Amino acid sequence: MSDKRETLGFQTEVRQLLQLMIHSLYSNKEIFLRELISNASDAADKLRFEALASPELLADDTELGISIEVDKTARTLSVIDNGIGMSREELIDNLGTIAKSGTAEFLQQMTGDTQHDANLIGQFGVGFYSAFIVADKVSVESRRAGNSADAAVRWESEGEGEFTIENIEREERGTRVILHLKEDESEFAESYRIESLIRKYSDHIGFPVSLTAVGEEDAETKVVNSATALWTRSRSEISEDEYKEFYKHLSHDFADPLTWSHNRVEGKREYTSLLYIPSAAPFDMWNREAPRGLKLYVQRVFIMDDAEQFLPLYLRFVKGVVDSSDLPLNVSRELLQQNPDLTAMRGALTRRVLDTLKKMAGQKDDYQKFWGEFGQVLKEGLVEDNANKDKLAKLLRFATTHNGNDTQDQSLDDYLERAKDDQDKIYYILGESYATAVASPHIEQLRSRGIEILLLTDRIDAWLAESLAEYEGKALVDVAREALDMPEQSDDKAQGELNDEHKSLLEKIQDVLSERVEAVNVSRRLVDSPACVVASDQDLNPQVRRMLEASGQALPESKPILEINVHHPLVTRLSDEVDAGRFESLSNIVLDHALLAEGSQLENPAEYVQRVNAFILGSDSGADNEQS
Ligand code: ADP
Repeated sequence: MSDKRETLGFQTEVRQLLQLMIHSLYSNKEIFLRELISNASDAADKLRFEALASPELLADDTELGISIEVDKTARTLSVIDNGIGMSREELIDNLGTIAKSGTAEFLQQMTGDTQHDANLIGQFGVGFYSAFIVADKVSVESRRAGNSADAAVRWESEGEGEFTIENIEREERGTRVILHLKEDESEFAESYRIESLIRKYSDHIGFPVSLTAVGEEDAETKVVNSATALWTRSRSEISEDEYKEFYKHLSHDFADPLTWSHNRVEGKREYTSLLYIPSAAPFDMWNREAPRGLKLYVQRVFIMDDAEQFLPLYLRFVKGVVDSSDLPLNVSRELLQQNPDLTAMRGALTRRVLDTLKKMAGQKDDYQKFWGEFGQVLKEGLVEDNANKDKLAKLLRFATTHNGNDTQDQSLDDYLERAKDDQDKIYYILGESYATAVASPHIEQLRSRGIEILLLTDRIDAWLAESLAEYEGKALVDVAREALDMPEQSDDKAQGELNDEHKSLLEKIQDVLSERVEAVNVSRRLVDSPACVVASDQDLNPQVRRMLEASGQALPESKPILEINVHHPLVTRLSDEVDAGRFESLSNIVLDHALLAEGSQLENPAEYVQRVNAFILGSDSGADNEQS
């Protein structure tokens, strides 16, 4: 270990974050205190945890707490804890780099628009670096629990590109963060100001937070917060604001949560849970490796962050605390996995979250916000969690042909309420986008009969529909499948009946397209379009096929079924076509258009263009009709 003073550079991401943060969070600058007190409280939690196995770490300093010192004359504010502390290496790693993966990509989303950036940074969690919003120099003196007094370290930076690090002597264990306040931030050296901020932001911290005004006459040290962990208090004593502040402490999120659920379970298993639904998705929600889970306490002693065993993956957006009275204090991630109580707790907590969402669904604005941020993640639940299928199905929201826009805000109950009495199916179409789905030929006939169709455009929707399969006894039906069962209508018979002329037309088309289609059928689902392609009932849905192919999977060849609207003028034209070459071209064009309309790619677009050009010019020799 080197003793000398070293100057090191911040990781690029830290440098960027510092600049952006100072600029975009200025209007919210006081939050730095919440962040520093949060870190101090985490440090005390960690020490208490490590001391379970190594009590000697506490030495004779057993009362864990946080003190704040303000000094008006020196214009400094210090946040001091006697927690775990940091070694030289830890200081360099923790305060010189950001370990969260995806940070660089995240920072690229910053636009320079203060409001937008403030929201993003808020979601990211600003932490320690927020000190630089109000300070032009920050010193951190720290001694790790268990290290000797001469192995303490000082980290110092002006928040530009670099920081210095040097060894110092320090009698006390833990960390002192000293903010040298900017000239116009001297308000943060005023004790009345800091006292009110501690009350506002940190009242719920489970350790005493005391305040001292250094150098003032008859300066006294007083404990400012109530020092009981919030979740241990009874619900009726906790205000909305206190719940919100606790959420921010816990999640480092900037925005208020949408809702929360606080419960104590007594009986065979005893535990308290406080679960929050955030208002915005974290930047790394789609990174399956990103840390997730609840903060675990056992008998009020912090055990671990990100205990992912308490909730399923599809509820990874939930933030919160679980405090168990029964788990052993030495519980590790591995032991948790094997603990027989865990399955029951996980089941109960999952239901708790789903009930909270159900309740929130009563407030449409909040629920829409939730659905916009987390709907796609919640949908994973239908695939993963069969036990809660019914609860989850009620929470789903869709865009449908009823809305006239792409907002996903209709529930399956809304759909069924509007459905006709004799409708025993729920119809849906899968599409690449809202625009393709809503304009799809497959839904023409149903729409013309006033039947509503769910428009499913999220990647997961094909699996969702398959896993759900039915709702309230009504089967979910893909309208782009061969066998489409529609409610009967008086003119159905006439439509369905084929005269000889139609039969021979279908045969002729089948002949020329035999390489490209499985079969040619007359369609009952079309109104305005001449044709569409459907998948046979054994085949993969084309949407799923495209997705699997895009992910590099080799799939067996499959040919679609072409359905023809025998009443369409283009088809009449086709049946009148006597020239064999032009008949072949037009048949291919009809098929190409049916493929394009459902969002498929043509195998050979150039050939298609040639064919259309030749057809328009009236020659039949433009394209080779065999499509490979
Ligand atoms: P976060 O708290 O979100 O991890 P921060 O930037 O606030 O991010 O802090 C980075 C890391 O520095 C923390 O995870 C912790 O390991 C360490 N740290 C910060 N403050 C303290 C402190 N007072 N005592 C011990 N470690 C600390």
